[in-house]
Amino acid sequence: MLQYTGLPPFIILLLLCVLSIRPIRHRFHASFYLGHVLLAILYLPFIFWHSWNLIDSWAYLWATVALWLASWTARFFWKMQPMSLKHEWFVGCPTNITYLPGDMTKIEILAPPSFTYERGQHCFIRMPEVEKWGNHPFSIVSVQDSNNQLTKNDKMGNTLSGPIEKNALHNTTLDEHHKIILYARTYSGFTRALSSHFRSQPSTDTINTTSTLLDGPYGGICRPVERYYDTLVLTAGGSGITACLPWLLSFTTKALSSYDLGMMRRVVLIWTIKKADHFLWIEDHLRNCVQRNQDNANGLNLQMKFHVTMDDDSFRNNQDCIENLFEHQSKDDPGFASRTASAQLASQQTSLDKMVDLGKVTKGRPVLKDLLSEEILEGKTLVIGCGPESFLTDLTNACGGLQKKVLQGEIAELALHTERFGW
Ligand SMILES: Cc1cc2nc3c(=O)[nH]c(=O)nc-3n(C[C@H](O)[C@H](O)[C@H](O)COP(=O)(O)OP(=O)(O)OC[C@H]3O[C@@H](n4cnc5c(N)ncnc54)[C@H](O)[C@@H]3O)c2cc1C
Repeated sequence: MLQYTGLPPFIILLLLCVLSIRPIRHRFHASFYLGHVLLAILYLPFIFWHSWNLIDSWAYLWATVALWLASWTARFFWKMQPMSLKHEWFVGCPTNITYLPGDMTKIEILAPPSFTYERGQHCFIRMPEVEKWGNHPFSIVSVQDSNNQLTKNDKMGNTLSGPIEKNALHNTTLDEHHKIILYARTYSGFTRALSSHFRSQPSTDTINTTSTLLDGPYGGICRPVERYYDTLVLTAGGSGITACLPWLLSFTTKALSSYDLGMMRRVVLIWTIKKADHFLWIEDHLRNCVQRNQDNANGLNLQMKFHVTMDDDSFRNNQDCIENLFEHQSKDDPGFASRTASAQLASQQTSLDKMVDLGKVTKGRPVLKDLLSEEILEGKTLVIGCGPESFLTDLTNACGGLQKKVLQGEIAELALHTERFGW
């Protein structure tokens, strides 16, 4: 009997493992997710049937059931905002959607006061108007301190500035809510639907409104980074900037508000983008960071380095301009954009001019090993990285190689934290 009853859970376990193999999981994420949950639920009763209280097997199985139910209940009534016990049920959060160049969508959500989060955390969002069942994770770019004072004083503004009427929250006044900002790069499923949904709607403004079911926050770094490290190097590839930006915002906001910055003295951002106009995604945030830092006498040593890797279309016919820009890398050349012929080229160059305003711009992929070696000179450094797989591999290898500086006594510590946009 034991041999036969073991066959169904064995097959289920095999399917759970095989269907979780990375290429399958990535290619068919929605089907993988649904299948995985259903198979896992099915597995448990089959295991009860198979083990049939042999020795004390059921004690372990009932403990598994209890833990599983507890975690689901906690997520349902604590983390999922529309079901949260802390406020009214089934109320979505008013949301503004703005389309940006380079297949990026900015999502501003007015979250309830009970939704508190730390820098570096992410949340899941569901927009029934765009896709009924999908639930997708995105990094929270905006920052909030524990008693919400920083976001309230934040120069970026704490409430939504544009349209907001849609499904406005009932329970508390809108003043008590705070804005969270997410950025979604367009792929083929939910993000594709989101990038096209509102374009087909008649709209008098560039900002579109909808309602979002919020679930989270999750993840993050628990360690108070500023107490352990004096240098923070943020390395991002493309949309991976969403995982690095909250750290930059957090430290420059803290510096402005005279919060304790601990040991932290230096923050370096290294951001690699394919096209110059991708810089426009977060231009305002970066300007705010620089401005805040300049406004504060005890500001950080803040440096930004941008690498533009694929602007061949814009620059192929105008090699002079590129060389000019990358040679000077400064504000010395304000007439740069006006020298170009095509509108597209002008737009890219305007973006480049804006980048030059904030930091150093270099054409081509960065050699991370060399770049980090220049930046990591003494003390304790934390490197935070997020980007495509190959970028993270290079970053990990670069940090691994630089550990010899610790062995040689040149620096005290080099730690690496990477974020991946997928599981
Ligand atoms: C912790 C975390 C934080 C993230 N933060 C951001 C962010 O700030 N900005 C951003 O643009 N993207 C972010 N992502 C990635 C984003 O969640 C996916 O790009 C998005 O879910 C893709 O949706 P889609 O239906 O358009 O994807 P598809 O076109 O179907 O797939 C694109 C890729 O996304 C993966 N994916 C699809 N759905 C999910 C899901 N529900 N959970 C995890 N991975 C999924 C697939 O495996 C595939 O590799 C983050 C992912 C994780 C895990």
